[in-house]
Amino acid sequence: MKIYIDFDDCLCETARYFSVLVKEMFGKDVPYEDIGFFDLKRSFALTDEQYEEMMIKAHTPEALLSFEETPGASETVNSFINAGHEVSIITGRPNVAYEASREWLDRHGLQRVRLYCLNKYGRDSFIKNSEFSLEIEDYYKMHFDYAIEDSPLAFRFFDHLPDLKIMVYDRPWNHDCELPGSGYKRCLDWETIKKSIR
Ligand SMILES: [Mg+2]
Repeated sequence: MKIYIDFDDCLCETARYFSVLVKEMFGKDVPYEDIGFFDLKRSFALTDEQYEEMMIKAHTPEALLSFEETPGASETVNSFINAGHEVSIITGRPNVAYEASREWLDRHGLQRVRLYCLNKYGRDSFIKNSEFSLEIEDYYKMHFDYAIEDSPLAFRFFDHLPDLKIMVYDRPWNHDCELPGSGYKRCLDWETIKKSIR
């Protein structure tokens, strides 16, 4: 089986990091549970300038390497690889974050996964002229049997794969989202995901 896994808020606790960061930088108190939108600018009620400043800080290697692993992520992903599945991490982070992201994976025992940066969200404002390691047309040539993703904005990248099983990692910003099809299933944790992939 070929498995697509998103990075932020699937493998690691990115939003929890942002909740702390926005308090440090701007004194805004928005607990993780209250992050109601995938759009952090909206969730934290930031100006364009504040958002840009925050995103630049969050994409430094020190910041990226500090993200906590989501419980059970590494162990479960390695169990998939041990069972012969092929795992690709498809992140919406820009290429400037590639090396630190790769290092985070290696430090968390995920040396065997592939990592690709795909422009999922049309983000290029916070890091000017961002590059991505995976072109959209090359992404569409890839095949997956399973996908693990938290962002409703990324669901459009699954429309071309009618048999794909999508596990939506349960997060506050996707609670109100109606899952777009029968291939979608909400998963509370990696234990549930582990049981769903055979
Ligand atoms: Mg994500």
